[in-house]
Amino acid sequence: MATPFKLSRAYPTRYGVPSITHVDRRMFTHRYFTHCLQCTFCHDWCCQDGVDVDLLHVRAMERHRQGLEAATGVPYDRWFTDETEEDDDVPGGATRRTNVTKRGCVFLASDGRGCMIHRFCSERGIDYHELKSLVDVLFPLTYEGRLLTIADEVEDGSLVCLDTGPTVYRGMRAELDYYFGAGFVAELDELEGELLGTEATAVAEIAPADVRQRDSASTGLPLASGPGVRSAPNQ
Ligand code: SF4
Repeated sequence: MATPFKLSRAYPTRYGVPSITHVDRRMFTHRYFTHCLQCTFCHDWCCQDGVDVDLLHVRAMERHRQGLEAATGVPYDRWFTDETEEDDDVPGGATRRTNVTKRGCVFLASDGRGCMIHRFCSERGIDYHELKSLVDVLFPLTYEGRLLTIADEVEDGSLVCLDTGPTVYRGMRAELDYYFGAGFVAELDELEGELLGTEATAVAEIAPADVRQRDSASTGLPLASGPGVRSAPNQ
């Protein structure tokens, strides 16, 4: 990995942690499909292995336990594996891992596309950030300590939609703004401009990758059948 950019200061998330001081410049050059639910070839690949859910969001899910169980058909005792991994850099201080079935993450919809947690939020007017974990929403970005970097699947080339759309940064810019604030993305915009030239920062803003999932729920239309991704190991 090339030397990461050092930021002018530390940027904590709205939850206090993680706090980012360096960013991996590959996020400005590596590309992925981005508009996940418009994808016709990935077969929900990025949700195959489940996802780490920080305890802050585990607790939020538990507050909606009854509704989530009814909406997803997944009883609470099947939501997570038994393991809890402590980590001071995640909201809540630890993570739990969602269970997987033959199809993938236990929350992956079996009657169409997308994440049933996300659908649950969309149908009830709940901001999906409240129930979906930080790393879930940020994929294909992730973080290691104080470094914001690309996910392993981008680095090793296994992400099935690589090189098919905007850069990882442009795809995730709105989410970075949500979690880290306007000052953070303003500094990243400058770094992007230095790296790629000013024209790179003039591209249109890209909505969060899963906006179509919200649209589908709000219009009452069924989620399209067939393959699809959401932005998380994902989304
Ligand atoms: S978006 Fe996250 S929680 Fe939802 S199905 Fe995919 S991996 Fe599971």
